[in-house]
Amino acid sequence: MNPKTDLRNLTQEDLVCYVESLGQPPFRARQIMSWLYRPGIVEFSQMTDLAKKFRSILSENAYISSFKDPLIQRSKDGCVKFGFLLSDGKLIESVLIPEPDRNTLCISSQVGCAMGCSFCLTATIGFTRNLLPSEIVNQVCAVGDYLREQPKSKLIGPARVTNIVFMGMGEPLNNLENLIKSISILTEQRGLDMTNRRITVSTCGIASKMKELGEKTDVNLAISLHAVDDDTRNSLMPVNTRYSLADLLQACRDYPMAKRKRIMFEYVLLKGVNDSDENARDLARLLKDIPCKINLLPYNESPGLPFKSPSENRVYVFQKIVRDLGYSVFIRTSRGEDISAACGQLAKQKLSEERNA
Ligand code: SAH
Repeated sequence: MNPKTDLRNLTQEDLVCYVESLGQPPFRARQIMSWLYRPGIVEFSQMTDLAKKFRSILSENAYISSFKDPLIQRSKDGCVKFGFLLSDGKLIESVLIPEPDRNTLCISSQVGCAMGCSFCLTATIGFTRNLLPSEIVNQVCAVGDYLREQPKSKLIGPARVTNIVFMGMGEPLNNLENLIKSISILTEQRGLDMTNRRITVSTCGIASKMKELGEKTDVNLAISLHAVDDDTRNSLMPVNTRYSLADLLQACRDYPMAKRKRIMFEYVLLKGVNDSDENARDLARLLKDIPCKINLLPYNESPGLPFKSPSENRVYVFQKIVRDLGYSVFIRTSRGEDISAACGQLAKQKLSEERNA
């Protein structure tokens, strides 16, 4: 463990306390913050508006972490999967999903995942640890650097990350404190200056933690619903035995959010499990008093897992039924499957461990 303080773990507020602990006035925190996330800033000597003496105090006590030399895999469809090596040798993944008008980055919140969803490959590697705020934010910084370094002709979208989804490895609400700090850094004007509107946190349904997220941030919320009755949901998602559908939907109704906002419900379509006409009607009935939109995800099949994807026609019929009952329903087309970068396919650690075994 590095005994120095990694300043990228600190929100602006934390940084104020930190500079005060070094005997400095609070405005130094704003000065430092406005340098910390500028591309190419790696050491304190570059922070030219700080007194030399203070810069050397900082170098003695603190450092600025970053991810270097990511493993990079490019998909035929333009998606790019990044593997980042953490300081303790663990590996995490992020997926860049470029479109002409935006670059969405899917980031991880934990090493592995403890939730054990039976259809998800990440679940098979189990849980190792929470990510620090710096490890969450550095995924965004590193992919920003990658985009800036690409020749214009190679870019599908803008030369920066415009949208963030916490849909990579891990359950973000089980790492709530660090999640909230990372969101603060991502949205802080002197940090990465992104808007809350373009950040989405996805949860498998930790109902007891949702309120705090809504009170402390203004990001979009996505719920991995995937089933419309407790029996089916229990069998797919062990979390449902702790927070039933009724608990989860009540937490959604109680979720503190701005008037025009809507909760995004994600529904993975699994052939013969949750994709019938009746399931579609039940889905509409369940969500009837929640301002929401629905994303249908045809299942990405993974070797070793027993689930199948429904036919294209089944997906369209399911969508039509829910749509005709008054909902905005989208089908999320899968991307990055050829490099195992699609939803539920992030399990790099397991693959590389197996290779080394
Ligand atoms: N733990 C959080 C964040 C992960 S988001 C959550 O569960 O919401 C990843 C999304 O992909 C979740 O909705 C997950 O249920 C879904 N998913 C997992 N495996 C999948 C697969 N093989 N095909 C399609 N979606 C999958």
